[in-house]
Amino acid sequence: MIEGRCLCGAVRIAVARSDGEVSVCHCAMCRRWGGGIMAGFNAPPEAVTVTGEVGRYASSDFSERAFCPRCGSNLWMRDHGRDYELSPGLFDAAADFPLVREVYADRAHRFAAFSGDHPRITRADYERNHPHLEGDA
Ligand SMILES: [Zn+2]
Ligand SMILES: [Zn+2]
Repeated sequence: MIEGRCLCGAVRIAVARSDGEVSVCHCAMCRRWGGGIMAGFNAPPEAVTVTGEVGRYASSDFSERAFCPRCGSNLWMRDHGRDYELSPGLFDAAADFPLVREVYADRAHRFAAFSGDHPRITRADYERNHPHLEGDA
């Protein structure tokens, strides 16, 4: 079990089980939402317990992005019915989670260049296999 919280502490998230590894997305939506990137680790819905009021934004027909309405901390992104992609920064225990994947890697802003030899998936490769918004806008 790991526990996380937003900046103000109004939202607390307990996670009983997760993949323990971080993916980063450089798509246009994630750049805007996350200040340049979105980072997330996956946890199945039955393993996640959220307390406190949560704001939700439907960022597409197939996904939502959640935030604390009081302090604005990003909490998770989630495709409907799928795993949570939780923000690692909320969890002290995520400090040692490895970065295992970048998606939309060819769209990254220059400052967001991560070191390491993990897979870097291009926009074209990602969009061949996953739902997405046309135009990465
Ligand atoms: Zn908060
Ligand atoms: Zn993205």
